[in-house]
This record gives sequence, C-alpha cells and structure tokens, in this order.
Amino acid sequence: MNSKLYGKLIFEFSHPGRKAYSLPKNDFGRHEFPESMKRRNDAELPECDELTVVRHYTNHSGNNFGVDNGFYPLGSCTMKYNPIIDEEIAALPAFSNLHPMQPEQTVQGALEVEYNLQQALSTITGMDDFTLNPYAGAHGELTGLMIIRSYHESRGDIKRKKVIVPDSAHGTNPASAAVCGLEVVEVKSTADGLVDVDHLKPLLGDDIAAIMLTNPNTLGLFEKDIPEIANLIHSCGGLLYYDGANLNPLLGISRPGDMGFDVVHLNLHKTFSTPHGGGGPGSGPVGVKEHLREFLPKPHVVKDGNRFTVESPCCCRKSDGYCFKNNRISTYLGNFLVNLRAYAYILSLGKENIKNVGPLATLNANYIKESLRNDYELPIDLVCKHEFVFNGLKDKSTGVTTMDVAKRLLDYGFHAPTIYFPLLFSEAMMIEPTETESKDSIDQFIEVMRVIAKEARETPQLLKDAPVNTPIGRVDDVLAAKQSILVYKDDK
Ligand SMILES: *Cc1c(COP(=O)(O)O)cnc(C)c1O
Repeated sequence: MNSKLYGKLIFEFSHPGRKAYSLPKNDFGRHEFPESMKRRNDAELPECDELTVVRHYTNHSGNNFGVDNGFYPLGSCTMKYNPIIDEEIAALPAFSNLHPMQPEQTVQGALEVEYNLQQALSTITGMDDFTLNPYAGAHGELTGLMIIRSYHESRGDIKRKKVIVPDSAHGTNPASAAVCGLEVVEVKSTADGLVDVDHLKPLLGDDIAAIMLTNPNTLGLFEKDIPEIANLIHSCGGLLYYDGANLNPLLGISRPGDMGFDVVHLNLHKTFSTPHGGGGPGSGPVGVKEHLREFLPKPHVVKDGNRFTVESPCCCRKSDGYCFKNNRISTYLGNFLVNLRAYAYILSLGKENIKNVGPLATLNANYIKESLRNDYELPIDLVCKHEFVFNGLKDKSTGVTTMDVAKRLLDYGFHAPTIYFPLLFSEAMMIEPTETESKDSIDQFIEVMRVIAKEARETPQLLKDAPVNTPIGRVDDVLAAKQSILVYKDDK
C-alpha cells in the first residue's frame, strides 16, 4: 500500500463540503425536529468522497493478520481454520433475523438448536447439562465459579472462599476467581510441568471451594495424576473446575466429566468454529454435573415432550431474601449465532470425524517440536498434546531473544507464537499449530524457524532490527503501554 497513506486517520482526508452520498429527493416535505432535540454544535465528522473512504478502510483491513491470511501458531489461543459452511449457516436469514423477544412458539427451531447443542456438549465433555449463556471464556469461568459458590452457600458451607490455581494457569483463571470474591491460592508445578501433588496436599482443607485446572495443561501436557487430584479435592469437600477453552486435543477421545470434574467451560470461539481475536463475538458455555444443575443460570432451554421451552429466571424471594440460584449472567440465551456455528461444526464432523481433531492437533504439535529441537531449547522433553513450549533459541550466546524471533517471523509472513507465557520459563515461546494446518504449511513454518535460528548465529543484528517487511517496524512496547496516545489531536 502507499506508505504516505499509512497511519493516517480518515479525518486527515477531510475537506469541507465533500460527500460520499446524497439522499434521494424527498416527497414528504420538510419536517423539523423539536428544538430541544437538536444538537447545538455540528458533529465533528470527516467529510470525504466515497472512494477515499473505501480506500482508507480497505487499506487498513489489509494490515490485519488472521487465520485466513496465514499460519497463526498462537499457543493457548487455538487460532484454527473455521469452515465457511458454518458461516453460511449462521448467515441464513431464518436465523440471523430472529429477535430474542419473539414468542417461544415462533422460534422452536432456534430453541432446538440451543437444546441440541447443550446435549452435544454434555456428551462431548461427560457432563449432565450446559448453559450457553456466557459470552466468552472468562465469562464462563465467572459463571462456573458463581455456580460453585452458590452450591457451597446453599449447603451452609460458607467458609469455602479459596480457589486453587496452578502457576501455569491462563491469566483469566485467577482473575475470574478474584472477580467472584474468592481468594486465589497458587499450586506449584513439578519440573515436568505437572501439578505438584505434594505441594497441593498441605493446601487442602475445609476452606477450599475449588481447584481450577486445564488438562492438557497450558504447557500442552496431560495431567496424569488427575484421578488422585480429583480424589484429594473431593475428599476435602471442594469441587473441580475444568478450563476447557482449548478442548481440541481431547475431542472425542476423553472427557473431563470422566476425570472427575464437576464444572467445565468451553470456548466455542476456539475449539468449535467461530473466528476470534480482536474482541469479536464469543461464547463460553458452562457444563455441570447433576448436583449443580439447579444452579445453572437462566434463561435455559429445556425439552418438554416435543416442544422446547425456556426456563425463566427465578424470581423467588426466600424468607431470608437470598436466592442461591444464579439467574441471569447475560441477556437472553447468549450469542446465538456463535452457538449455531458450533452446532453446525459438530454436525458436519459427526461423531466419527470429531475423533480425528485431537490426534491430528497432537501429531502436528509433536512434529514441529521434534523438528526444531536442535535449534530451540525444549525445557520439558515429553510427548505433548496440542501445544508445547520452547524456551527461546538453544544457542543462548547470540543474544537473540524470543521477542526478536517473534518479530522476525512477521517478516516471513507468519504470525508469532504466544511469547513470554507461560511464566515458568523466561524466554517462553508457546506453539500451537492446530489440526487444520496441512503438512505443507507446517513444513514451511519449520523451515523459516530454522532459517531464523541460522540468522541468529550469523547475522543477529538482522533479528534485532526485525520486522522490516511490515507496515510499521518494531514499536516501543513500554512507551506504548505507559504513554499510549488514544485521542486524536488535530494539529492543523
Ligand atoms: C482463551 C482462554 C481463556 C479465556 O477465554 P476468553 O474467551 O478470551 O475470555 C481461558 N482459559 C484458557 C486456557 C484460554 O486459552
């Protein structure tokens, strides 16, 4: 694109009097708004012709990088290809034109979709029921923890205020626990990256509400001690919460419900086909075992004979004025079109093919790990599941950091992996290829990672200066965070 245009705001192309539209002649005469409703000053809007507007936004959209542009190995974020058929189904007017306030008898099909998805997700995860209401993973975590808190409180067990979270956990886990008014207790990992059961034991007691785990964990490792962990937590009266944001490696193979988890959340926008990133629409459904069903938020779709109905929020007023039911966590039934995409995705794979997701995601991750282990430091040398972590380049003498490698990858047209997370390793580089990449694109990535390792040895300055092929070069992260300029100032 024309570099002179880059970084400009649409306001900078503005000229008084230019227009991108003209209204048709009106046959209805002139009608004035009441004076009290008129604005006193003109709105400060850019005045541009249509072509300028089209070019401005088209050029900006070209600076975006998404799964549809190239390989996007962002560990713990599952940036995978989302089949277009799911988009087509979500765009059908019969679904996209629905209004959430329509009477139940006019939306039986939509309710059936929601009900069937609740059932399908229950079968996939080994739970007894699901709510599709939460809007994102973190929102699901909050919902799940509120369910757990309500469960304990309904039994008069009000001392349980602590939530155990491993040091490798996704940042939203401790954040959600804190938002829910619970106290976070960290459990350490062993040198092998698994929950340290010996460190866990002394933390247990009658003040533990739950443990939040993800399995495979954030290092892509299967928590093999999960039966013992489940037993320990349940024996002390706590519940097990499963962060299933990235369910790919397990799909159709094993189920959190069978591992002893009581509550599960999933990210439909990671594992079940909805493009994500940039704050787009998501869905973080929460599944529970039977004993927690009554605490699921409302509204909730149930089947009554051949009809689908919606259980309304509880309006009971207990004598002590407190209801343990969680009621609303969102407006209506969540992000319906995201839920619909997930349902279409599950049906299009079918129970035969959904079983291939996990093994392929696992194979791809292990293939990259083994292919690059001579150039990059592998701190935990185990068979991984869908993702794994390198600790920077193997040769530490070059001074080239994980940040430099990540920036250089951009020059080669790849998105960088997740870097400096998890916090267990100082130069962490977390790679998740997902099951949707072909061997060709994975081989290209491996090749480029090898070239970068060679550059680090031979021409390290090249990496320090990267990226050089992107519209803007390396930004000062600290300055951008500490002195961010969020408001446009017109210097003219
Ligand atoms: C992405 C992710 C979350 C949070 O999901 P959001 O939809 O971004 O709120 C939670 N846990 C794990 C492991 C994740 O990867």
